[in-house]
Amino acid sequence: MFTIAVDFDGTIAYHDWGKTPQFVPGALETLTLWNQQPNIQLVLNTMRSGKYLEEAIWFLETHGIKFVGYNQNPTQQKWTSSPKVYANLYIDDASLGCPVTKPDIFTPGGRPYVDWAKVDQLVSEMVLFVEPIHQD
Ligand SMILES: [Mg+2]
Repeated sequence: MFTIAVDFDGTIAYHDWGKTPQFVPGALETLTLWNQQPNIQLVLNTMRSGKYLEEAIWFLETHGIKFVGYNQNPTQQKWTSSPKVYANLYIDDASLGCPVTKPDIFTPGGRPYVDWAKVDQLVSEMVLFVEPIHQD
């Protein structure tokens, strides 16, 4: 199983604090595609907590995106007490090297956000490399 930890603000949704979440371009499509892959599971990895985390979960569930954990990988407690979310890959607008799109005057929140077209391509190559698909 290939676990991808995905940030919320600036990654899945525009960085527009206090507003109703809106998907950045390509996020819904890519996450939906990954949900359909049997060798990929998603964990939401966000600084949100309390009612703000609940808002994000509601938003994602409303759009049919499935996560196996929210701010935790449900299986890692078997082998570590670390609070860091375990994943094979982390996608976060604040991480070095993550492709981001420059905002324009129409961008909600006015901050950079993840370029999902580039992420989708990079992850496709990585998942195939880590776990080849065998065809009988
Ligand atoms: Mg972020």
